Amino acid sequence: MARQFNGNKLVIASHNKGKVREIGELLAPFGVETVSVGDLGFPVPVEDADTFIGNAEIKSLAAAKASGLPSLSDDSGLEVHGLGGEPGIYTADWAGPDRDFNIGMKAVTDKLGDNPNRGANFTCALSLAWPDGHRESFEGKVFGSVTWPMRGEKGFGYDPIFVPRGHDVTFAEMEPAEKHAMSHRADAFRQLIDACFKTS
Ligand code: IMP
Repeated sequence: MARQFNGNKLVIASHNKGKVREIGELLAPFGVETVSVGDLGFPVPVEDADTFIGNAEIKSLAAAKASGLPSLSDDSGLEVHGLGGEPGIYTADWAGPDRDFNIGMKAVTDKLGDNPNRGANFTCALSLAWPDGHRESFEGKVFGSVTWPMRGEKGFGYDPIFVPRGHDVTFAEMEPAEKHAMSHRADAFRQLIDACFKTS
């Protein structure tokens, strides 16, 4: 059985404001107080694993050890099927050093060119780590396709070019609650809650 989260304070091990906001929204029903590593002034650890879960665990462990509190990280990205799964774990890097996601979305589109395989999925790994090094990690996905030009102002990152399967609007055109009902982050989150929040 997975280790249970029984505390009332959780560190969110992410410097990405969009992710911190979405994780806060997903955690809201559980009455857990959250603080982000950005607010605590912790540095960004080097993410040199070659999987989403590996990188999520680097971030959750670093935050748990530095704060002495259970810490939850998110490592996620866009996998474009016509690009062999790129940008994948390098999704943030494709947005350049200033994390300008317009650049990242344009790079995806340019690289795809007229490739008819526009299929894509977002993947999200969530990792909950404790200061003693124990961790519980989960991976969620949402499938759809990439579109151009970008559409919508909501969400964050690559949301303006991702159309989830069965819909004709992008994630950036959806209300947050609609995205949360189907997103990769929500999928991983459900697994985390089922496994680690049973008793809270
Ligand atoms: P990392 O996990 O910090 O390496 O960054 C993952 C990158 O994937 C983010 O910077 C976003 O650009 C992108 N990404 C992850 N989740 C989402 C999402 O829900 N919508 C749009 N882009 C996302």
